[in-house]
Amino acid sequence: MPNEIRSTVKFNLPKEGYKVKSKGHLLAMVTVDENGEKVLKLKNRIYYMASIINIQNAIQVKEPIKNGEIPRCPYCGRELDPRNTTIDHTIPRSLGGPTIQENLEVICDVCNSLKGSLKPSDVYKIRSMFEQKVPLETIKNFKYNARKQYFNEMIENKGIIPKEWLVNVPVKKVRGNKNIDLNSLSFRNAENFYYNYGFLRNTIVVDKKDMLLEGRLSFALARELNLKNVDIIKVSNVDVDLLWFTYRGL
Ligand SMILES: [Zn+2]
Repeated sequence: MPNEIRSTVKFNLPKEGYKVKSKGHLLAMVTVDENGEKVLKLKNRIYYMASIINIQNAIQVKEPIKNGEIPRCPYCGRELDPRNTTIDHTIPRSLGGPTIQENLEVICDVCNSLKGSLKPSDVYKIRSMFEQKVPLETIKNFKYNARKQYFNEMIENKGIIPKEWLVNVPVKKVRGNKNIDLNSLSFRNAENFYYNYGFLRNTIVVDKKDMLLEGRLSFALARELNLKNVDIIKVSNVDVDLLWFTYRGL
């Protein structure tokens, strides 16, 4: 069944009723569906990243602190607390790294700024260069070359993210915003990238009902080019459900 969408990716979610808020506004809430499975209801798809980052943080940092454990940065061993904690996309977003649990890691703010849009192994190298007081220019060159190498790797493999995260589906199954400015610079860039290298740069991520969560440009481009099928990541326990919030008066 080549066209069947499989559920490939899921988030660990906090307990039912957990609310994701930003500046007093409710963005999302953990609910339980008719099968007894936890689902993250999102009020709007643009809240996806903010909600997921918040939830990762809650699970990986706040929960252990509450239980008396001390979470540590995997790179430097520093104790993590909500103030020095950041969520890193392990495969950087510039290389198509999606916002899914498999690609997110809680690390300290210092290591995150060292890593930038590079790979985990680079953090150790850059750290030791700093410790050995290597000239800043040398570190800059290292970062520049590493970025170039990853870009080439992405081009050669037609995408750098693990294939097991992806499912190939008909473009018409994906539901998303059709109002994209086809003359915008970002759309033109996405288009040029596709013509030069033959694949969509940004990964498309959809919710359980195939609503677009990430990869807006790639989706718009796939439609514009009349592509039949497209690789996506489907997160089966995230659900954009405006009506649910309206109905519940939330
Ligand atoms: Zn660190």
